[in-house]
Amino acid sequence: MPLYAYRCGDDGPLEVMRPLGSAPPAIACPTCGADAPRMITAPRLANADPTRTAAIDRAEASRTEPEVVSAPPPRPARTPRPRLDPRTATLPRP
Ligand SMILES: [Zn+2]
Repeated sequence: MPLYAYRCGDDGPLEVMRPLGSAPPAIACPTCGADAPRMITAPRLANADPTRTAAIDRAEASRTEPEVVSAPPPRPARTPRPRLDPRTATLPRP
C-alpha cells in the first residue's frame, strides 16, 4: 500500500497509507483538523538495485561533471605468447 505525503500549514508534514490511486488531494490534519494538501514526492528508490542506481547516478553526473583525463588510459598488460608445441614450432606462421 503506498504512502502519501500531506502537509499541514501548522503541524508540518504527515504521511498516510491509502490504497493505490485513492489518495484525495487534501485530508483533515489529525492534530488540528485543518486541510492538509497532498505533496508530490519522489518515488522511494531505496529498494532499487544498487548497481543500477550507481549507473544512473554516474550518467547524470556526467552531464554536468564530465571526467577530465590528462592521458589516454593505460594499455592492458601484454599476455605472454603461449608456448608453441615443439612439434609445430617450425611450421610457417600466418
Ligand atoms: Zn494540523
